Amino acid sequence: MRFLPVFLDLRTGPVLVVGAGELAHAKLRLLAAAGASIRWFATDGNPDLSGLTAADAARVELAAGDPMVADLNGVIAILCAGAGQIGVAMSVRAKAVGLPVNVMDDLAHSTFIFPAIVDRGDVVVAIGTGGAAPVVARRVRERIEAVLPARIGDLATFIGRWRKQIHGRIAQMPLRRRFWERVADGPIGALVLAGRGNEAERALENIADPTAFAAAQASQGQVTLVGAGPGDPDLLTIKALRALQDADVVFYDELVSPEILDRARRDASRVPVGRRAGKPGIGQHAINELMIAAAMSGQRAVRLKGGDPFVFGRGGEEIEALRAAGVAYSVVPGITAGLGAAAQFEVPLTLRHAALRITFLTAHKAEDADSVDWSALTDDKMTVVVYMGMTAAASVRSGLLAAGRSPRTPVGVFARATRPDAQAAVGTLDELPDLVERIEGGPAVLIIGDVVAHSAPWRQQDLTQLFSKLLEAAE
Ligand code: SAH
Repeated sequence: MRFLPVFLDLRTGPVLVVGAGELAHAKLRLLAAAGASIRWFATDGNPDLSGLTAADAARVELAAGDPMVADLNGVIAILCAGAGQIGVAMSVRAKAVGLPVNVMDDLAHSTFIFPAIVDRGDVVVAIGTGGAAPVVARRVRERIEAVLPARIGDLATFIGRWRKQIHGRIAQMPLRRRFWERVADGPIGALVLAGRGNEAERALENIADPTAFAAAQASQGQVTLVGAGPGDPDLLTIKALRALQDADVVFYDELVSPEILDRARRDASRVPVGRRAGKPGIGQHAINELMIAAAMSGQRAVRLKGGDPFVFGRGGEEIEALRAAGVAYSVVPGITAGLGAAAQFEVPLTLRHAALRITFLTAHKAEDADSVDWSALTDDKMTVVVYMGMTAAASVRSGLLAAGRSPRTPVGVFARATRPDAQAAVGTLDELPDLVERIEGGPAVLIIGDVVAHSAPWRQQDLTQLFSKLLEAAE
C-alpha cells in the first residue's frame, strides 16, 4: 500500500490551491464543501469564483503573485490542479518543508491523493485504488452508496452525542462496546435509521442501568426470507443485499448462485438446505426447524431462495412455521425467473391488444393427469409462464393442444436466465419437446403465447431463415 487512507483535520489551517480552470474549480468545490479554508493562486491570473455557491466562495481567499514564494506558514496541504510545470516545482517545495502535496494526475510528484468519497455526515468512506484507476474507485463508491442506509451518518452522530455520558456510567471497556453494539443493532438503532431520532433519544434516556442493558442476554433473533433473483447478482435488491450483509447464518437453496452467496457477510455461516446434484434435500420440516433454532439462539438468519420467495418457493409454508413458533420474520421480494427471462430475452409478457393476462404455472405435477386445468389456459391473449416444465414439456404440449390452443402458438424455452451461460430455444407449441431437447440443462422456464414472437431469439431466428433462403436462391 503506497497511500494509507487517513483523514485530514481541516480546522487546523488553510489548504493552498494552485491552478486554474475547471480542474481547479472542481477541487475548490470539493474542499469548500468539506469545510476547508482555502488559499487560491489562480495561475492564469483570472480568479473567477462564479461557479461556486456563495457559501463555498466565502471559504476561498484569493492570493496573487508567485505561488513559489508564497508564505507556507500554517498551511496544512498543497494542491496543484492543472498547474503544469508550477505543479512539479510546488511539489519540490512542499516536500522540502514537509507539507503534504497533491499534483493532479501526477502520482510521481504527489505525497497524497484524493479518494472517491461516500459522504453521510459523520460517516465518511474513502475509496482508493492507489491512483491506478479512479473509474474503478467510482464503481466501488456506487456499490457502497447502495448498501449504506441513508441515515447511517445520523446513527454515528447520535452515538457520538451520548458516548461520553455512557462511558461515565459503564466502567469496563468490553461492556461499553457491547452496549453500543446493542444500541446500533437493536431497536434504538433502527429508530434512528428510520428517521425517528426523537424516539431513539427517549429510548436511550430510559435505559436505567446501562451496564445491565449491555450484559443482558442477546435478544431473540429473526429470519429474513430473501429472494435471490434468477442468478445475476446485480439483480439482488438493495434490501436483499443488506439482509445478506447483516446475516449471521444463511440457509440457501441449490438454485442460488455462488456469486450471490459471495455477497453475504464474510463470516456468516452458509448452510445448503436444498436438493443438490440430484440428491434429495433435508426436507421442508427440517429447514423450518433449522431456521427457528437459529432465531431462538439470537442469530440473524437469512433464508435465501432462488427468484422470489412467494413464487413456487414455499415461502408461504415457511412463514407459517415461523409464525407458529413465535419467531420474528420479514420477507424481501426477488425477481422471479419468469421476469428475469422475459427481460433478458425481450419477451414483453403483456402487450397492448395482444396479451392481456399472465399465468404463472408450475408443471411439477403436470404428468399426473388432471393436476393442471389446461382448459383455463386456452385464451390466446394470455401469456403462460411455466416453471419446472422441462421434464413435463410433452405433457404441457399435449394438455394445451387437447384443450384447443393452436399448435402454431409461439413458445420459448429460456434456460439459466440472467446467468453467463443463459440459453434460449424458440419455436411453436407443436415443437415444444424438440425445443427442450436443444437446451443444455436447466433450470428453465417455458413461455407460451404470441408475445414470444416479439422476443430477441425469435427475431434472430427470422433473420437466419431469411439469410438461408437468400443464399439458396443465390445458389
Ligand atoms: N422461486 C423461484 C422458482 C423456484 S421453482 C422463482 O421465483 O423464480 C424452480 C424453477 O424456477 C425451475 O424449475 C425453473 O423453472 C425456474 N428457474 C429458476 N431459476 C431460473 C433461471 N435462472 N432461468 C430459468 N428458469 C429458472
